[in-house]
Amino acid sequence: MISFDHPYDLPAGGRWRRGNLHAHSTQSDGEREPQAVIDDYAARGYGYLMLSDHDTFTDQSFLAACDAKGLILLPGNEITARGPHMLQIGGDALVEPTTDRQVAIDQANAMDAMIVVNHPNWFARFNHCSQERMAAWQGYVGLEIYNGVIGRLDGSQYALDHWDMLLQKGRCVWGFANDDSHKPGGDMELGWNTTWVHGDSPEAVMTALREGRFYPSTGVVISSIEVEGNRISVQTENAERIVALRDSGRRLAVVDDSRIEFELTDEDATYIRFECWGKGESFAWTQPFMVQVSE
Ligand SMILES: [Zn+2]
Ligand SMILES: [Zn+2]
Repeated sequence: MISFDHPYDLPAGGRWRRGNLHAHSTQSDGEREPQAVIDDYAARGYGYLMLSDHDTFTDQSFLAACDAKGLILLPGNEITARGPHMLQIGGDALVEPTTDRQVAIDQANAMDAMIVVNHPNWFARFNHCSQERMAAWQGYVGLEIYNGVIGRLDGSQYALDHWDMLLQKGRCVWGFANDDSHKPGGDMELGWNTTWVHGDSPEAVMTALREGRFYPSTGVVISSIEVEGNRISVQTENAERIVALRDSGRRLAVVDDSRIEFELTDEDATYIRFECWGKGESFAWTQPFMVQVSE
């Protein structure tokens, strides 16, 4: 019998909040002061935000002195020097940019922070972070499957290839979509994480992210995900096509509709995930449903 391990049994009492975990300010190479970045995301109706300046930890006391404008503000940093970039989400001190990034991951986990691997397919050779490194590292929660700013740089802002290669090894890592905004206007509101959050604290957002109770999006809204045995139904507000994929990115179903009812019969699948394609270049991606087979 087939069933799934998945993060979408949403506990009652939460609400959906849209969040960006990757934004730069004048604390590093961003164009605007931290408060101006906060104001912009708040005006766009976001629910949470993390300032992720390069090797600069924006801590709880700095954030307490800002006007949050209704946003939940998360402490954070973009681990940058001497290796592939990673988000440090939460914690109470800077994670050092050690050459051995496993050391950085371990340091983050020791202070209950989380690590996300950033924009793997940045650069003309699409090799900011190799699959070999991502497969070797242990203890990070996910990777940016979409990074907005790479859309105006070399490489690809998408990293679904790396995600599928990790998932097919049985590595249950979450997909994230972030702006990586450095300036106003075109860097803003490109990708976000719609997250089921209980309460108003940074810890509540951290818990939801750690458990995978979110979906990354560039414009498609998922209205419900229901799972029963080997069946999954995904309903969206505005998808025009939904694709169900398994190991190695192999497509199992494609429907030109805003919803899909999918039944898995392949017992050798490691995972299933869904891509919801909307108008233009808008997408929403579900987190993986890891396949469990029992007698
Ligand atoms: Zn970066
Ligand atoms: Zn960045």
